[in-house]
Amino acid sequence: MGGQTGFWYDEKCFWHSGGNYALVLPVGGYVQPQAAGGLAESPETKRRLKNLMEVSGLLSQLDIRSAPPAKDEDLHRIHTNDYLAEFKRLSDSGGGELGEHAPFGQGSYEIAALSAGLAKGAVGAVLAGEQRNAYALSRPPGHHCLASKPMGFCVLANIAIAVEAHLAAGAANKVAIVDWDVHHGNGTEAIFYERGDVLTISMHQDNNFPPASGGFEARGQGAGEGFNINIPLQPGGGHDAYSYAMERIVVPQVCAFAPDIIVVASGFDASGFDPLSRMLASSETFAMMTRELMAVADETCDGRLVLVHEGGYSEAAVPFCGHATIAALGGIDVGLKDPTLERFQRQQPNERMRALQRTIIDEMAEAI
Ligand SMILES: [Zn+2]
Repeated sequence: MGGQTGFWYDEKCFWHSGGNYALVLPVGGYVQPQAAGGLAESPETKRRLKNLMEVSGLLSQLDIRSAPPAKDEDLHRIHTNDYLAEFKRLSDSGGGELGEHAPFGQGSYEIAALSAGLAKGAVGAVLAGEQRNAYALSRPPGHHCLASKPMGFCVLANIAIAVEAHLAAGAANKVAIVDWDVHHGNGTEAIFYERGDVLTISMHQDNNFPPASGGFEARGQGAGEGFNINIPLQPGGGHDAYSYAMERIVVPQVCAFAPDIIVVASGFDASGFDPLSRMLASSETFAMMTRELMAVADETCDGRLVLVHEGGYSEAAVPFCGHATIAALGGIDVGLKDPTLERFQRQQPNERMRALQRTIIDEMAEAI
């Protein structure tokens, strides 16, 4: 392992427009409509994370890079010709909507290819030993996107595109993808569902998004049988739910798989502040999961670990959660204190609730 921790971002990723759209509760006609950008995916959370890293001094200690967009051949390994052609056509002519909750604006095709390119660049640099590990601030996100249909703010499957490009090039043979975004990584699951060379694990709030997706029983199919693991967690689970799921399932399963690299779908929407979830995780939860996966990567694949940004919709929480994660990844302490941390530590489930959710996680661990 060599080099510094990489940080991959590009100003243009902040320019993707999710349209004048807000993911709102169905209250139509009774209350004033959401202001544009209200609960929708917006560049603000990502930009504020990068800005916080700049003012804290963390950014200057990282190897900062951008990357070329993912190539056409990279996109075609994952997505259907029809979908890519239709996405490009609509993107050129002002934007539109081709799936479920995934609107886009003028030029989003090129920005989405760049977002996937950042993930591909980060994975490539870590596989080549140029960077010790890396964080890609990809936007738009990718983990809900299917081969032929965008979903949930995701218009290209960034991580799948990146992983498949490097598998095709022979730079890796086995990849573990760990998804801690609070929503089910259904796109990543579907794309690799029949594959034994890519282990997909998703920890998510039970029955959040997409509906009827992410059940424990979905374990993969054919050659992929046993290589998909869903860990649905109960609302309000907090830090202990994530800590125990890591200990009982994620860490042992990734170790047993012995990947060449671990890629994380890093959403910060399990935070207690997030408008699109109910999990009560804190910045310390994400830092803990980062340290755990760094230890697994050290043990199994010479430390090769790449985190690719996914969801996270609180403009206050995402910067602190992301900062704690990236500081942990770099092993760097710039002395930044998360002012929201104490509030969430106070609101965690009590011992009886923790025991109950540990029982549920134990049942899943034993059934694997
Ligand atoms: Zn999410």
